[in-house]
Amino acid sequence: MSLSIAIVGAGIGGLAAAAALRKVGHKVTVFEQARAFARVGAGIQQSPNAVKVLRGLGLETQLRKRAFCPNSSLNRKHDTGEITWERMLGAEVEEKYGAPYFYMHRGDLHEALAAIIPSGIIRREKKLIHLWQNDNGVRLEFADGTEATADLAIGADGVHSIVRETLWGAEAPRFTGRVAYRTTFPAALMNGATIDGSAKWWGPDRHIVMYYVTPHRDEIYFVTSTPEPDFQVESWSAMGDLEILRDAYKDFHPQVRSVLAACPNVHKWALFERDPVPQWRKGKVTLLGDSCHPMTPYMAQGAAAAIEDAAVIARCLNGVGHNEIKAALQIYENHRKPRTSRIQKVSRLNDLDKIKIETERVFSYDAWQVILS
Ligand code: FAD
Repeated sequence: MSLSIAIVGAGIGGLAAAAALRKVGHKVTVFEQARAFARVGAGIQQSPNAVKVLRGLGLETQLRKRAFCPNSSLNRKHDTGEITWERMLGAEVEEKYGAPYFYMHRGDLHEALAAIIPSGIIRREKKLIHLWQNDNGVRLEFADGTEATADLAIGADGVHSIVRETLWGAEAPRFTGRVAYRTTFPAALMNGATIDGSAKWWGPDRHIVMYYVTPHRDEIYFVTSTPEPDFQVESWSAMGDLEILRDAYKDFHPQVRSVLAACPNVHKWALFERDPVPQWRKGKVTLLGDSCHPMTPYMAQGAAAAIEDAAVIARCLNGVGHNEIKAALQIYENHRKPRTSRIQKVSRLNDLDKIKIETERVFSYDAWQVILS
């Protein structure tokens, strides 16, 4: 039984869902508002729970070649550099959780997902403005005046989701009062100086995470959480002021300051979150990824959770006919919501002890195998 499925949004969640749903034989179309995918300077961590899903999509081998896989990740005090916790990664994490831990360029992950979806399935410059549904299916309307129909629709349209708003009404996500300065840049600009493979530097009210995003250690990424309650612009392309950034981290360890001194430019991104959304599905429309569980990036689990959603929704819809769509989407929601809500709540706290405790539960999950109830 093949269903026609409309996915709104070609981010990491939407693309992973498209790939997973095609694997179980459904006819998928992805509608994306953007004209092209930009390779914005950002890194991404993919923990074993996400990598297990990517493995099932056939991507593990090529991502291993593009990702940086250090033996551990350090947590350090911002000024003295004292190590407060070393999280073991490398072979140890792979043996324990059955998959590696990747640090990579976000653009490389997105590109790898897009490459396993045949051209024509991703329809660009299709900004959803509204959708309707009845018992026969879903009708989607786009800003260019065109329409599309499908048996069911998935809103993978991010933290400001129009699909969510259409289903459940407008409710703005909460600005955390903090911004992420982030960029990737060539390690050659460090003039021979090196950094820890991966480290989080904890200051009293701010932090910075730095790591390499390639196996050759030739590209450095950093991302901060910096208090700036007056900034609310959210755009992948908004630029930050390097002098303001360097000043905000002037009390940090020389290793941090050397990275900030070397980086040629930086993006700035307001950090938003929501409380867990009480309901995802209405009729034959549901949500996936940041549209239903946007979270602070402090556990590096937002995209990982969207990727898990993709595998689970594909399993729930495997072999499902028209009359079983609502029940299948409800199983997906019932299974996924408790896990994603918990990760949202723990991530918000940015508390190292709590994050340590969650590691086992988060990393050991296998979205392809877990019992769906
Ligand atoms: P998005 O990536 O937001 O994609 C939504 C897509 O929908 C976009 O392409 C958008 O153009 C499109 N869209 C929106 N509206 C419409 C519309 N009306 N019509 C058509 N298309 C539309 N997660 C990790 O797992 N590991 C990390 O290390 C990590 N680091 C992070 C660091 C920072 C600073 C931040 C902010 C987040 C980080 N995350 C990380 C979280 C991760 O980036 C998000 O959770 C993830 O990108 C969500 O994917 P998504 O596909 O749900 O949404």
